[in-house]
Amino acid sequence: MSKTAAVVGSGLGGLAAAIRLKAKGYDVDIFEALDQPGGRASVFKKDGFTFDAGPTVITAPYLVAELFELAGKDMRDYIEMIPVDPFYRVVYSDGSQFDYVGDEERILKEIEKISPQDVEGYKKLAKQAEKIFKVGYSELVDHPFEKFTDMLKIAPKMIQLKNYKSVYSLVSDYIKDERLRQAFSFQPLLIGGNPFDSTSIYLLIHWLERKWGVFYPKGGTTHMVHALVQLFKDMGGRIHLNSPVEEILIDAHTVKGVKVNGESHLCDAVVCNSDPSFTYMNMIAPEWRKKHTDKRIKKLKPSMSLFVSYFGTKKKYDDIAHHTILLGPRYRGLLDDIFHKYTLPDDFSLYLHAPAKSDPDMAPEGKEAFYVLSPVPNQYSKADWKTLGPLYQEKILKALDSSYLPGLLDNLELAFFITPDYFEKNLRSVAGSAFGLEPVLRQSAYFRYHNRSEDINNLFFVGASTHPGAGIPGVLNSAKVLEKVLNER
Ligand SMILES: Cc1cc2nc3c(=O)[nH]c(=O)nc-3n(C[C@H](O)[C@H](O)[C@H](O)COP(=O)(O)OP(=O)(O)OC[C@H]3O[C@@H](n4cnc5c(N)ncnc54)[C@H](O)[C@@H]3O)c2cc1C
Repeated sequence: MSKTAAVVGSGLGGLAAAIRLKAKGYDVDIFEALDQPGGRASVFKKDGFTFDAGPTVITAPYLVAELFELAGKDMRDYIEMIPVDPFYRVVYSDGSQFDYVGDEERILKEIEKISPQDVEGYKKLAKQAEKIFKVGYSELVDHPFEKFTDMLKIAPKMIQLKNYKSVYSLVSDYIKDERLRQAFSFQPLLIGGNPFDSTSIYLLIHWLERKWGVFYPKGGTTHMVHALVQLFKDMGGRIHLNSPVEEILIDAHTVKGVKVNGESHLCDAVVCNSDPSFTYMNMIAPEWRKKHTDKRIKKLKPSMSLFVSYFGTKKKYDDIAHHTILLGPRYRGLLDDIFHKYTLPDDFSLYLHAPAKSDPDMAPEGKEAFYVLSPVPNQYSKADWKTLGPLYQEKILKALDSSYLPGLLDNLELAFFITPDYFEKNLRSVAGSAFGLEPVLRQSAYFRYHNRSEDINNLFFVGASTHPGAGIPGVLNSAKVLEKVLNER
C-alpha cells in the first residue's frame, strides 16, 4: 500500500511539494483554504481583465521544468515562457531611467549612460555576484540546514564572501552613483528584505537573473499555477478547495492526519505550506511544541507587507516596460520607515506591472490591465487599512497619472486593491507579512523554519518562511529540500 500525505495549502511551494511526493509514490491530498489554488500567486478576474495577484517575475524556470520532468512530461507542452526584456526599467524621481538587462554589453551601456565612472566597478560587482551565487545558491538553496554544524561548514566561505555586509553596503563597495546603487540593491525587496539589512548573500539574485533570465508565462503566473495543478491531478493527486485545515492531528509526537471542516483525514505525513508561525501557534496543541512555543515564535521578525492596486484602463500605454520600478526621492529613509519604524510614509517607491507588453490577452481589445505595488509596513504599524486603503489607492493612482501614466484617471475603467489585511486574514500570514519571515542572517538557513519539524515526527514545512526562503525559486527549492528530509520516523 502506498504511503499517504496531506499538503496544507496550494501555494507554489505546496504544489511543488505535492508533485514531488506524488512522484515518490505517495497518495497525496492538497487541502486549500481558499476557493482557488496558488496562494499569493492567485488571480483576480474582473470585467474581461485578468490580474495576477502576486508574483510576476519568473526566474530560474528550470525549477518548474523539473516538476514536469518528474512526471515524464515537457513543461513546454504546458507553459510558454516568454523572455522579458528589459528585466526591469528603473525610473528615478529626477526623470532618468535605467534599463536593467541580462546582456553584459547592453547593461554596461546602460551604466555608462548614468555614470561612466561605474562601468569598471559593475564588472567587479557582477564577478562578486557570480561567486556568491556559486556558494549561496549552488551549495545552500536545495540543501537541508537542520544542524548547526551544517551552518558551520559553510560559514568560512560565507565570511570570505562578506555575508556580514548588507546588500546595499556590498554594492556600494563597487558602485559610486546612488541611482545605480539602488538599481543593484533593490532585489531583496522582491522577497521581503530590506537592502540595508539583508545579508549580501542575496546579491546572488542578480547573478541568477543574468544566468537564467526573467520570464513571463503566457496567460500570466496564474496559467503556470493551473498547469501545475493539472499536472498534479494527471499524476493522480487530489486537490480540495474551500478546505481550511483547522488542526494537525498528533499522537505521541507523531502526525496522524489533519482536521478539515470538522472531519479527520488520516495520513502518514503532513506537509504544511501554510505560514509555519501561524500553523504552530494555531493548529498544533502546545503540549507537542517544545521548541516552537508561542513565546519563541513571537520573537521572530515577519517581513514587510504590500499594498497592491489592480486597475484596468480604457486605452493602451505603448511606451512602457513590462516591469517598471518607480523609485521615489528617498531610499534608506523610506525603507527605515517601513521596516524599522512601522509607519506608513507619505512618499512611496512603486513597482508597476504591465503584462500587455508580453501578452495582450490579459485585457479586452484596446484596453490594458496593470497592477501597482507599494511596500508598506506590516500590521505592527496598527494602521487602519479599511480607512486608509481607498485614500492610499487614490494617492498612488494620482501619482501615476501625473508622471508615468499620463491621463490615467480619465481612462480608468476599474480599480481595486489589497492591503496587509488581505495577507493576514485571507492568507493567514502572521502580522500580514507579504513574504513570511524577513530574510536577515539571523533568520536564514539553519535559523529559518526547518523543512522537517524538530518537534513532531512526519510533519514537514515548505514555502516562503522555511529554508531557503521567499520568492518562486525559494519556495520551489523548499520542496526539493523536503524530498531530502522526507525519511519518515
Ligand atoms: C504581490 C506580490 C508580488 C510578488 N512578486 C514576486 C515575483 O515577481 N517573483 C517571485 O519570485 N516572487 C514574488 N513574490 C513572492 C512569492 O509570490 C511568494 O514567496 C510565493 O508565491 C509564496 O509561496 P508559498 O509556497 O510560500 O505559498 P503561499 O503563496 O503563501 O500560499 C500558502 C497557501 O496556504 C493556504 N493556507 C494557509 N493556511 C491554510 C490552512 N489552515 N488550511 C488550508 N490552506 C491554508 C493559503 O490559503 C495559501 O493558498 C511576490 C509576492 C507578493 C505578495
